[in-house]
Amino acid sequence: MNFENTYTKEQEEFRMEVRAWIKANVPENMRMPAMSRGIFGYEEGSDRAAEMMAFWKEKHLELGKKGWLYPTYPKQYGGGGFTAEHEATLAEEFHKGGVVPHHSDAQTIDPVLVWGTEAQKQKFVVPLVRGEKTSHRALTEPQSGSDLANVRTRAVRDGDDWLITGQRVFISTFEGVDYLSGPAMTDPDAPRHRNVGFFLIPNPVKGLTMQNMNLITGKPKFIFMDNVRVPADHLIGDPTQGWQVMGTVLDQEQQSSGSAVAPENRVVTTLVDVMQQNRKRGTHSGSDPVLQQNTVSAWIDHHIYALFVMRTHWLFMSKTAMGWEGATGRHINREEGLRTKARVRTVMGMYAHLGKNDPLAPYGGLQDWQQMSYPHTAGGINIGKVIIARRIGISRTRERAAPTRLTATKTTV
Ligand SMILES: Cc1cc2nc3c(=O)[nH]c(=O)nc-3n(C[C@H](O)[C@H](O)[C@H](O)COP(=O)(O)OP(=O)(O)OC[C@H]3O[C@@H](n4cnc5c(N)ncnc54)[C@H](O)[C@@H]3O)c2cc1C
Repeated sequence: MNFENTYTKEQEEFRMEVRAWIKANVPENMRMPAMSRGIFGYEEGSDRAAEMMAFWKEKHLELGKKGWLYPTYPKQYGGGGFTAEHEATLAEEFHKGGVVPHHSDAQTIDPVLVWGTEAQKQKFVVPLVRGEKTSHRALTEPQSGSDLANVRTRAVRDGDDWLITGQRVFISTFEGVDYLSGPAMTDPDAPRHRNVGFFLIPNPVKGLTMQNMNLITGKPKFIFMDNVRVPADHLIGDPTQGWQVMGTVLDQEQQSSGSAVAPENRVVTTLVDVMQQNRKRGTHSGSDPVLQQNTVSAWIDHHIYALFVMRTHWLFMSKTAMGWEGATGRHINREEGLRTKARVRTVMGMYAHLGKNDPLAPYGGLQDWQQMSYPHTAGGINIGKVIIARRIGISRTRERAAPTRLTATKTTV
């Protein structure tokens, strides 16, 4: 079997069109730095960050009009109506060309597509998919991270509105985001999983404040809400259906790779490069068997992950519900990341810890960035295993995949 992904003539022409757009529209100084996490690579708070935010907001509007911002989303909701191959091509070229991805996350758009009314899809999904508005998921609270059902934020009905009071933590968003999506307890007397609603909270709004958390990896936000007034049509699904809606959010997050088909791992590529350079220079480390074994192990690990991504891509293309497969790919990626960190330290020694501002930092500080990044999203690594256990029937509860944009029949593209 040939695992190479091949493209048709039409798809190759599309690739050329994308490359031409990038060349004509994205100046060198506006490209996303290789090691950034989307908007968080802008060196938050700096003039450069503000300039890049403004530039990309404009560009996202252009991309939205072309349907390139959310290529596989339905046309009637502002998307491109393209195939998964088009999306993969766009992802690959955007990655190479340093195009900053849209400023919303799919986990806030998809629950509206799956669970929202037609009016809510028009009101929320269309402007988000076109890049006119932005959104981000705000789920985690001080006492509800992995145990998300332990949410304490309250929503109390007040006439036509809801009043929301509570706190979120670790939210990777920015001050100017238009909506924050997440759960709030609507019925404190009901049992867990049947006591929350899922809301799109507007921002800015009276009573909502954000504060930076100063982590070594960046500045996610604390969010405080004090009687924040939210109109009734910002509740997605029924008032106590929020846990089901969140299933769509969490499954989306677990599936991770979406339509990406050929993930690049620059850390592994540069590790191989270090060994090649050392060999060329004839140094002792260039022929050290331990360093060689470490490098090859990282290389093999990455290629195993790449095969899982191909499988996820195929499931995505065929609109098949992902049971354990998406979560397994994600898990391999996260564990691979941890093992690669250790191998990088073995091969590169203390150079692996020189940050991007140090003139001696190899590859612009790429390795230091990788050392500091960690696999936090969608719960920790253990939580990934809990999800897989539920899906393969060796857990206290058995759980089927939640409906997603691609598997929910009413919204399938
Ligand atoms: C940089 C960063 C950005 C983030 N961005 C966002 C964001 O944008 N939006 C958002 O909503 N959240 C965000 N988060 C929060 C993230 O999703 C949570 O950190 C994650 O869900 C884990 O929750 P916790 O930190 O409370 O850890 P805990 O839930 O307290 O877990 C602590 C440890 O216990 C383990 N554990 C917990 N329960 C079990 C179990 N049942 N079985 C086995 N092991 C278990 C976990 O794996 C982990 O190792 C972010 C976090 C970070 C660090």
